[in-house]
Amino acid sequence: MTFSQAQWEEPLLVEIDSPAVFGFDRKVPHAEPLDKGRLNRKKICIPSVSERDLMRHYVNLSQMNFSVDNGPHLLGSCTMKYNPKLSETLASSSKVTRLHPLQPEETVQGSLRVMYELERLLAKISGMDEVSLQPAGGAQGEFAGMLITRAYFSSRGEKRRRVLVPDSAHGTNPASAAMAGFEVVELPSRDGMIDVDLLRSAVTDDVAALMLTNPNTLGLFEERVEEVASILHGRGALLYYDGANMNAIVGKTTPGLMGFDIVHFNLHKTFATPHGGGGPGAGPIGVKSFLARFLPVPRIVKDGDTYRFDYDRPESIGKLHSFYGNFGILLRAYIYILLNGGDGLRRNSEQAVLNANYLMRKISNAYEIPYKTLKKHEFVASASSLKSEKGITALDIAKRMMDYGVHPPTIYFPLIVPESLMIEPTENLSMQSLDMVASVFNRIAAEDEKILKESPHSTLRRRINEVKAARDMVFNWRELSDNGGVPR
Ligand SMILES: *Cc1c(COP(=O)(O)O)cnc(C)c1O
Repeated sequence: MTFSQAQWEEPLLVEIDSPAVFGFDRKVPHAEPLDKGRLNRKKICIPSVSERDLMRHYVNLSQMNFSVDNGPHLLGSCTMKYNPKLSETLASSSKVTRLHPLQPEETVQGSLRVMYELERLLAKISGMDEVSLQPAGGAQGEFAGMLITRAYFSSRGEKRRRVLVPDSAHGTNPASAAMAGFEVVELPSRDGMIDVDLLRSAVTDDVAALMLTNPNTLGLFEERVEEVASILHGRGALLYYDGANMNAIVGKTTPGLMGFDIVHFNLHKTFATPHGGGGPGAGPIGVKSFLARFLPVPRIVKDGDTYRFDYDRPESIGKLHSFYGNFGILLRAYIYILLNGGDGLRRNSEQAVLNANYLMRKISNAYEIPYKTLKKHEFVASASSLKSEKGITALDIAKRMMDYGVHPPTIYFPLIVPESLMIEPTENLSMQSLDMVASVFNRIAAEDEKILKESPHSTLRRRINEVKAARDMVFNWRELSDNGGVPR
C-alpha cells in the first residue's frame, strides 16, 4: 500500500536541443512563422528536439503526475470518472481533428447531427425542453443561465435584482450571479438543507432566482425541492439547477420533474470527458421552453434531413464561445451516453451512490460524518476531532493520502463543515479499491502527527508554499541572460 512517484530531473523542452539518433527518429522541425517579417522565431522560442526526446519528455512528465488512470481519485463534487479510451480514439480520428469551424454547413452535416442529437439526449436526461452546447464549462453555463434570467425579466419589464444562493453552494454560483449583475443573498442552511421557512421569507418580489445544487454539496438530496420550486414560482422567480452533482440522479429523476427552469451540465464530470488541468470542458445549459428564445446563438436546427445553424434569434443573450463550443468534448460525451444507454447511465448513478455510502460507513469510526443520513453520490467527513485531539488537519490528511497512491478528496469545501473532506468515489471504484481507500483513511487517522505534518514523503514535490505558488506564479520560461531575461 505504498506509492513512489517517478522523480525525473526533466528539463524544459526549450532546454533540450537534441540530435536525432539512429533508427526512425526524426528531428521535429521548427515551425516557421508564416510572416517572417513580423514574427521572429527566436523571439517566440520554439524548441527543436528529436521525436524520441519529445516522447520521453512527455512520458516522464506524465509519470510525475497523478490522474484517474493512476489510481483512486476522490475529488468530491468533481466526479472524476474514468475517461473511456474508445471516446478518445473516436475523437482523435482525422474526421474530427481536421474539421474547420468555418467549413460550409453542407460539408459538416455529421458533426451537426452529433451536436443536435446530444442536445436532445441532454434535454431528455434533464427534463428540459431545449439545450445549448456552447458554454465551455459549468461556471460559464451558470453565467449563461444568469444572463438568461436577466433577459427573461427584462423582457417582462421587471427589475429583479437579487439571486439567492445557499451557504453550501459552490463558489461559482455567487460569482456567476454577481457577474451577470445580480446582488447575491446567501441563505443559511438547516441540517445541511434549504431552510424552507427562511426561504419563504427571503423570496421577495425582487428575487430573480434561487441557484440550487441537488443533491447538494453535502451529498444530501433536497427532499423539499418541489415545495422550494413552488415558493419561487409563486413569486414569479426562477429556479436554477447546478448540475455538477447530476451523477447521483441520472436516469432516476430529472431537474425538470423537480421544478427547475434552467440547468447546466458538466460534461467533464457526469459524462466522463477529460477533466482537470484547466480543461477543455463543456457546460451545456438546458431550459424550459418559455426561456428557449434567450439561449445563446447559434442554435442548431433540423430542416427535414439537414442541419444548419440559426443566428436569427433576436432575444438571444448572444455568443458565449468562439464558434460552437468544445466539439471534441461534446463528441466524447455523446459517445459516452450512447455507449451506456439509458439503463447504463441509471446503473452508473446507482453504483455511484452505493459506493459513496459504502465508503462512508467504512470510515465512520475514524472520522466524524456530519448529517448522519444516507448520502447520494458523495459525502463529507470532518477531521475536526482529529484536529482538537492531535492537531491533524484536513490538509495533513489530504497530503498524506498521496503517499498511499490515492488522490485526496476535496478539502475545506463546503465551507459549512469545519476541516471538511469531501469524498466522491464515483461508480468507477471496484469493491477492492473502495476497501483499499477505506483502509488508507483509517490508517492515516491512527498515524503519528509528525509523519502527517511532513507528508507527502513519496512524491516529487513535497509540501509547497501554497501562498507563494498562488501569488507568485511563473507562467513562461525565461532564459537568464545579460539583458535581464529576454526569451531565447
Ligand atoms: C465543478 C462545479 C461547478 C463549476 O463547474 P466547472 O465546470 O468547474 O466550471 C459548479 N458547481 C459545483 C457544485 C461544482 O462541483
